[in-house]
Amino acid sequence: MRIEVLTIFPEMFEALNASILARAREIGAIDIRVTDIRPFSNAKHKNTDDYPFGGGAGMLMTPQPIADAIKHVSPEPYAGKRLYMTPRGKPLNQAMAEMLAKESGLTILCGHYEGVDERVIERYIDLEISIGDYVLTGGELPTMVLIDCVARLKEGVLGCEESAEEDSFSLDGLLEYPQYTRPREFEGMAVPEVLLNGNHAQINAWRREQSLLATLRRRPDLLDKARITNQERAWLLQQPTNPEDSATWQ
Ligand code: SAM
Repeated sequence: MRIEVLTIFPEMFEALNASILARAREIGAIDIRVTDIRPFSNAKHKNTDDYPFGGGAGMLMTPQPIADAIKHVSPEPYAGKRLYMTPRGKPLNQAMAEMLAKESGLTILCGHYEGVDERVIERYIDLEISIGDYVLTGGELPTMVLIDCVARLKEGVLGCEESAEEDSFSLDGLLEYPQYTRPREFEGMAVPEVLLNGNHAQINAWRREQSLLATLRRRPDLLDKARITNQERAWLLQQPTNPEDSATWQ
């Protein structure tokens, strides 16, 4: 999958040269190209921002350099999706990442200052995406978040194919169960006995129960859409919820 990033801070994307994303690039699962918008500016000093019409605080990214950069990296007919990262966008979730991972290509526009001229969004952007209800200074970190969660869904990127499927929000829409590694005892706390007995049916049953409980206590909103049986739903209704847990996670 080819991912084109448009930004006025290309150097920020050096962070993508480490860890699993580096491997994703090495094995050819994703091909990330970062393009600086500034050289596309027709302005004398290569400016990419200007004052907003109607007044107000801050500057806006001007449409011309962005439009020209988009046309350069994703010329028509473009088979992929053009995205703009913005707090006004559709909230990013696992289902959206799975959908985007199936695209042939992505072109991602990073905003800065107070954002970008609306006309460029109207003309060139297929989908506006937010990474959460908070405001960052630029679209570079949101773009890296998006690339990371799409890349790990591509075949061969994670060492073991199953690990993405068992993660939180995946197949069944539940949060993941708690996990433990060595040592068996740490600062007086033992690993749950069931995980040590080698009985996989019991381990799976315990993990399922823990997933259900974690979702009930931390993110009960996910249970409406989760793929759980009627029996499990009835069992959950009998479980005490911990008000302190929900307060922490709200
Ligand atoms: N004035 C904008 C608003 O109120 O919606 C915020 C602009 S923000 C300071 C600058 C840029 O950061 C945005 O154009 C966008 O690209 C990016 N950005 C900030 N927060 C974001 C978020 N939660 N999700 C995605 N992108 C975000």
